[in-house]
Amino acid sequence: MRNVFNFSAGPAALPKEVLEKAQQELLNWQNLQVSVMEVSHRSAAFMQMVAQAELDLRQLYHIPDNYKILFLQGGARGQFAAVPMNLLGAKKKALYLNSGHWSKLAAKEARLFGEVDEINILEKKAEKWGVKNVDFSAIANDYAYVHYCPNETISGVEIFEIPKVGNAVLVADMSSCILSRQIDISKFGVIYAGAQKNLGASGITLVIIREDLLTQTEKNQIPSIWNYAEQTQQNSMINTPPTFAWYLCRLLFKYWLAQGGLPAIEKHNQEKASQLYAYLDQSDFYYNVVAIENRSEMNVTFHSPHPTLDILFIQEAERQGLLALKGHKVNGGMRASIYNAMPLAGVEALVAFMHKFAHQYR
Ligand SMILES: *Cc1c(COP(=O)(O)O)cnc(C)c1O
Repeated sequence: MRNVFNFSAGPAALPKEVLEKAQQELLNWQNLQVSVMEVSHRSAAFMQMVAQAELDLRQLYHIPDNYKILFLQGGARGQFAAVPMNLLGAKKKALYLNSGHWSKLAAKEARLFGEVDEINILEKKAEKWGVKNVDFSAIANDYAYVHYCPNETISGVEIFEIPKVGNAVLVADMSSCILSRQIDISKFGVIYAGAQKNLGASGITLVIIREDLLTQTEKNQIPSIWNYAEQTQQNSMINTPPTFAWYLCRLLFKYWLAQGGLPAIEKHNQEKASQLYAYLDQSDFYYNVVAIENRSEMNVTFHSPHPTLDILFIQEAERQGLLALKGHKVNGGMRASIYNAMPLAGVEALVAFMHKFAHQYR
């Protein structure tokens, strides 16, 4: 029995039931008398597992039939390069919307492969960071694609409205918000996400790509493992895939379907985030610097009145079993990552601790 709540930003907490299932099956998977880690990725049992993972994800996330699903390696950072390699095409120019650390890094990597225009969509209003109007339909068609990051994991800035890009290809780094709420997949050309926040363990990266974009990538002279068309043809198995991480994804999809799917996940996430923000809003001790309409439901950032108190907060919280609340070094302060696997009880315990701490040190 574990008596802690893990607020790690990533690799992040997994549902206890998923870990227990993996534990049960660890030495004897599918009655094969071996672990899932010890079988060929081309074996019937593994191929069947992979097919089921895809079916479950399609059902869970309402992925239309004209989208392909890839499970690749190299993390989200690998996709920072794969996206321009595959998609720059004849226009040779992409538009990157900058809303913070990760979207900025994605743009930097893309510059290695072609021309990148970057638009800063962050703005500070009344001491709070928010995101400007996200309608780019007038200019988007000049570009091979438009890239953005719906949830900036470090600052806790989330963009709930899908940017308007007309008929242009929209690409999203959903590493820290994938499967957190219902979205209209048909608005996107490519969605990608490292698995270690909301999909399982590190080492595997989900890519969801609209079929018609593959005809273009087929012709590109790029390494096979980064080539979306080739990976699609080879079922994401050009090289040996991270089999255990893939298996954990499969357990996770099945688990969330049994919990009621995306509507249930979304409701649960909204409930957790609104409890935490409601407490922050009424507090005269803690503060948060993100505009209300862009406050992340996944990564809740906040500060105490003083950086030395922040350090004390993080230490005392840890002693109370509230783990990994330290903010990213770029921002300081605290960050509570409350991904899908965080139970409401974790948020309640955090709020109770915050209340006690504020009382003691105000
Ligand atoms: C964590 C994260 C990344 C980096 O992911 P890796 O898998 O480590 O490359 C990129 N983008 C966002 C939004 C993230 O949260």
